[in-house]
Amino acid sequence: MTDEALIVLESVNKWFGPLHVLQDVSLSVARGEVVVVIGPSGSGKSTLCRAINRLEPINSGTITFDGQPLAAEGRALAKLRSEVGMVFQSFNLFAHKTILQNVMLGPIKVRKEKQAVVRDRAMGLLERVGIANQAEKYPAQLSGGQQQRVAIARALAMQPKALLFDEPTSALDPEMVGEVLDVMTSLAREGMTMVVVTHEMGFARHAANRVVFMADGQLVEQAPPEEFFANPKSERARDFLSKIL
Ligand code: ADP
Ligand code: MG
Repeated sequence: MTDEALIVLESVNKWFGPLHVLQDVSLSVARGEVVVVIGPSGSGKSTLCRAINRLEPINSGTITFDGQPLAAEGRALAKLRSEVGMVFQSFNLFAHKTILQNVMLGPIKVRKEKQAVVRDRAMGLLERVGIANQAEKYPAQLSGGQQQRVAIARALAMQPKALLFDEPTSALDPEMVGEVLDVMTSLAREGMTMVVVTHEMGFARHAANRVVFMADGQLVEQAPPEEFFANPKSERARDFLSKIL
């Protein structure tokens, strides 16, 4: 991790009609840093992720990525999306394409890269997430944990500068959570910049550089995991932890 900020949010506000879902949120994520975002359901964690990727426009404040303000549209937006990978709770793989095709699609369609180059990279990534032997299968033939690992490989195929994860293990059967967290932990160790929304406190403890606690659209507190879990400062964080730990 370096001190250089890759993702910077300054006083970000977002409303859904009357609902103030992001309230003056400021957050800076350094290159190579792993930030785990936790908080009760409805606190704005998904909206925060979507705002960083500009899947959700904001009403005020600024978000910069790699020194550039987030682009609203056009080529610059497409570039941003290819530089910030996103992994969702639902894996969103294309059902009628093979695993390998799913991983190859972005670089070929969006970046117009050469088939052979992309194929090699995709196979390497499938190897890395432990799915290379399933490359010719279709998503429905894989378990949820395997599909989510494919979704991670697909995000990595775009060679992103950062990855956002929005509850990547919440839809999985319990026995499959570990295999996905293992892949994420190794990415974290390799220096990938990651923002991870999760309820997996073990992952937060072991892989995060920083834990950010959100409630009701506010970033209530943030601290390194050992500090946060040993000594949460706000009443709301203590209350949240008492319910999930
Ligand atoms: P979290 O991910 O922490 O559970 P979300 O970011 O999904 O929270 O949602 C924050 C709040 O915004 C919730 O009250 C949710 O119901 C509301 N919300 C989310 N998306 C929309 C939307 N597209 N339109 C209206 N309200 C929304
Ligand atoms: Mg959410």
